[in-house]
Amino acid sequence: MIGAPSCHAAPAIFRAGVALVDITPTNFPIHTAGNLTLTVAHKALDPLNVRALVLDDGRTQIAIAVVDSCMVDRETMDAAKAVAQRVTGIPVERMLIAATHTHTAPAAYSCHGNDAEPGYVEFLIPRLAGAIIEAWRNRVPARVGWGKGDCAQFVHCRRWIMQPGTAQNPPAAFTGQATNIAMMNPGCANTNKIRPTGPVDTAVTVLAVQTVDGKPLGLLANYSTHYAGVSEAGLSADYFGEFCRVMAKELGVAEGKPFVALMSNGTSGDANCVDFTQPNWKHDRFMVARAVADAALVALKAARYRDWVPLAMAEQKCSFKVRRPSLADATVARDYLAKSVGDRPTRNWEENYARETVKMADWPAKKEIKLQALRIGDFAIATTPCETYGSTGLAIKQASPFALTMVMELANGCNGYLPPPDQFELGGYTTWRARSSYLEVGAEPKIRESVGELLKRVARGKKP
Ligand SMILES: [Zn+2]
Repeated sequence: MIGAPSCHAAPAIFRAGVALVDITPTNFPIHTAGNLTLTVAHKALDPLNVRALVLDDGRTQIAIAVVDSCMVDRETMDAAKAVAQRVTGIPVERMLIAATHTHTAPAAYSCHGNDAEPGYVEFLIPRLAGAIIEAWRNRVPARVGWGKGDCAQFVHCRRWIMQPGTAQNPPAAFTGQATNIAMMNPGCANTNKIRPTGPVDTAVTVLAVQTVDGKPLGLLANYSTHYAGVSEAGLSADYFGEFCRVMAKELGVAEGKPFVALMSNGTSGDANCVDFTQPNWKHDRFMVARAVADAALVALKAARYRDWVPLAMAEQKCSFKVRRPSLADATVARDYLAKSVGDRPTRNWEENYARETVKMADWPAKKEIKLQALRIGDFAIATTPCETYGSTGLAIKQASPFALTMVMELANGCNGYLPPPDQFELGGYTTWRARSSYLEVGAEPKIRESVGELLKRVARGKKP
């Protein structure tokens, strides 16, 4: 055990609290986010939630919340953090909120064929704040441990280098990308695919808290696959929610009270759960949840629980240039939409990217984003607000001074895909300019470096 911070004061007590707040809408039909074209849900297949964990080492408090949403922008998350700070006193820069990236939740951010659902953001803000506040109120003396499992079965690179001329190639005026050698989701039967464009991170990383007498209280897990999807139309927390239910069952505790699991998205910008080398590949959210839960249980078995560990958190804001469309491209796109689409929803890649080009024409030249690093003893969490590639996550983990590091994407905002510069040369969906991919080509190395510096900053004072 690491000693308490002061030799004179009473020993500091480590506390943890968890909470779960339902965010399933009651007004149907409702737009969902994540699909390229307009998608409407008429019912919920399973509940959507905000899940929160507050940690307190007696001098520093940090709050982590994971929300069943595809993407939530920084303005919405900041508004929720401000409300939570007013009640708890935890500074907003010690709060991490991340979206799971389920593709079957109400649209909270306008992108591609689905505009943000009116009223849903206003519905979300007090519930995001409420989950943090409730977790803070629920704090009890606790022990904390961490561990790592592995699940290679459901994380595969979804970008493939293709035979010349066989990758999708929408008009460059609408995507900003003239060359496309890479293609997303080429299909298992596609014989034109040559090789994946990058590595994937197969780790299942787990941070767990339990009561001082050893009863499970909560856990935060992380896995780097995009999402699993649903077989019938409707809202769903996807495998993220199912994983949390499976973990509660496996640990023999009731979900919600006293136990809450949080499942966060790792670095899945270029990865999903389909093995494109297998002709009859099968997956669904239940299979993915089961496999990831099995890996998390392995991680938990090896975890050693500490009575007290130091907490630290650092946040940095940085600005990046936006890949804005030129005036000429915006004009071409506007004319095309007026002639071919009119008021109806967009139906394909070409129409969608024309619409994105018009929507981005008056965007600012720069966007400010938030990066964070959290320290929980010898365990760390690094965050980006982008759909981050596996190679970036692996590099952040490799350079981290901590025994175990979790990398969480779509945290504290949603600033689109983050392809490394060499991936722009290959083109493909994630590099195409849209409200889902717009940071400057050189953003990835700068973000990777800044996150590395933040990890070093929170590691200060840590024994090597
Ligand atoms: Zn996605």
